[in-house]
Amino acid sequence: AKFEPQAYGTDPTRILKQIWGYPSFRGQQQAVIETVLAGRDALVLFPTGKGKSLCFQIPALCLEGTAIVVSPLVALMRDQVEDMKALGIAAECIWSEQPEDEAMDVRRRLAAGELKLIYVTPERAVLPGFARMFGRTRISMVCIDECHCVSTWGNNFRKDYLSLGRLKELYPGVPRIALTATADPHTRLDIVRLLDLDDAETFVDSFDRPNISYEIVERNNARSQLLQFLKRHSGSSGIVYCLSRKKVEETCGWLNDNGIRAKYYHARMDPQTKRDTQDAFRMEEGLCLVATVAFGMGINKPNVRYVAHLDLPSSVEGYYQETGRAGRDGLPSEAFMTYGMQDIVQRQRMIDQGEATDEVKRIERAKLNALVGICETAGCRRRVILSHFGETYPADCGNCDTCTNPVEQWDGTEAAIMGLAAVYRTGQRFGVGHLIDVLTGKVTDKTERFGHTELPVFGVGKAIAPSVWQSVFRQLLAFSLIEVDHDNFGAILLRDEASDVFKKRRTVMFRKDRLVSGRKASGAAR
Ligand code: ADP
Ligand code: ZN
Repeated sequence: AKFEPQAYGTDPTRILKQIWGYPSFRGQQQAVIETVLAGRDALVLFPTGKGKSLCFQIPALCLEGTAIVVSPLVALMRDQVEDMKALGIAAECIWSEQPEDEAMDVRRRLAAGELKLIYVTPERAVLPGFARMFGRTRISMVCIDECHCVSTWGNNFRKDYLSLGRLKELYPGVPRIALTATADPHTRLDIVRLLDLDDAETFVDSFDRPNISYEIVERNNARSQLLQFLKRHSGSSGIVYCLSRKKVEETCGWLNDNGIRAKYYHARMDPQTKRDTQDAFRMEEGLCLVATVAFGMGINKPNVRYVAHLDLPSSVEGYYQETGRAGRDGLPSEAFMTYGMQDIVQRQRMIDQGEATDEVKRIERAKLNALVGICETAGCRRRVILSHFGETYPADCGNCDTCTNPVEQWDGTEAAIMGLAAVYRTGQRFGVGHLIDVLTGKVTDKTERFGHTELPVFGVGKAIAPSVWQSVFRQLLAFSLIEVDHDNFGAILLRDEASDVFKKRRTVMFRKDRLVSGRKASGAAR
């Protein structure tokens, strides 16, 4: 049935029931809606899946006129508009490659006041030409979706979002609502400042996603670890994230060769293939989508059962957003990641050798450390994740790998001293592989050539397996006791903090690594 523009009524709960068929609002939805209907600005910080869309869609239907919805991606806009049209709602979007007849029709209906919502990109929202398109149609509200894109602190910064700070003057007196699923305290401040939302009522919902379980394993053979994980999920759909396009394509091919139905997605594909792939993921069940982070924003598939990371995500926020795409239907879902020392080393190198200012580099290092903290914790991962978003989780969650299978720890102070001594005695000029050879007393060309077989540290760590030494060095790096010299082929350097360990003023507890699958690590990462 097609709804007439005025036929929605002004009662939010009735609209919720009649159009969406839901019996009641969830969480703080109603409070947000009432705020907007009262003509006030709102900042909505709800984690993915808590129902942000209804917070502006319903007021848009209640209010007279047309709501402007700013959204960063055309694919995302079109998805939402399709979903609403399927419910009989008069919503449209404007995008640059839109077929001309369609664009004309949208413009006509906009000017005639026939639309309840019009979706546009940020660059268009502030164009004078766009405002003129409304003619006599009243603008009911302005909605800024994915508003964290305004902050450079996150990894989704969009330059065009900065101009959205002008929306307040451009559309005076029109209530604005900004929404995001990413809201660490720093991003939150940026949003308020840059979008001029000082007077907005802020709504924060807990970021906990209780139905998602978290698991992070030490990488030894990423592919077989992944395969083992995917076998637990045969018949369900999920996403596997990789850092590079090349790895995405290769991993996808490999999975298909190994009996997993997979497709891939990354930014370099042509628009049609991208759309087809998104559609396939939406419609089909049991599809594994291997993708870069280009995939996901706005993917509104409720029954994504798993999200796996083969590479370290960009940040805690990134990790949280990406894993948050699982389990929007509230059913049990899994977030899985493999992680290794190379991840830290590579990321540090990218930061160190990047073009950024020292200030930005400092931020990036802090963000990396926060992420590594989640990987290396021996405690409940959910607690660490939520504390990052300023939340205190009352108890261990019982739904992450460290809770269900407590990490064994060992006092590694002696091992740490040996490892650090090996770094020192060899002149801080060698990488982890060589250091492990020295510690385990392995005679190689290199240990002989540099006279390292003569050092007092040669062979002192024989009792510890090379794979455990790998783990020791990874954790020393994670604890900031050592660092990697990127200008010198990954040589390990001591940090000042190491002296406390040498002087036995600090004990070092290491976690025992766990591998979900595959063979035992054999130092292959060297
Ligand atoms: P978000 O944008 O916060 O990630 P969505 O707006 O996409 O979340 O909503 C997630 C899912 O929850 C959608 O399928 C939506 O229809 C559903 N939903 C939202 N609000 C309610 C509600 N009050 N009752 C039942 N389902 C709801
Ligand atoms: Zn836990």
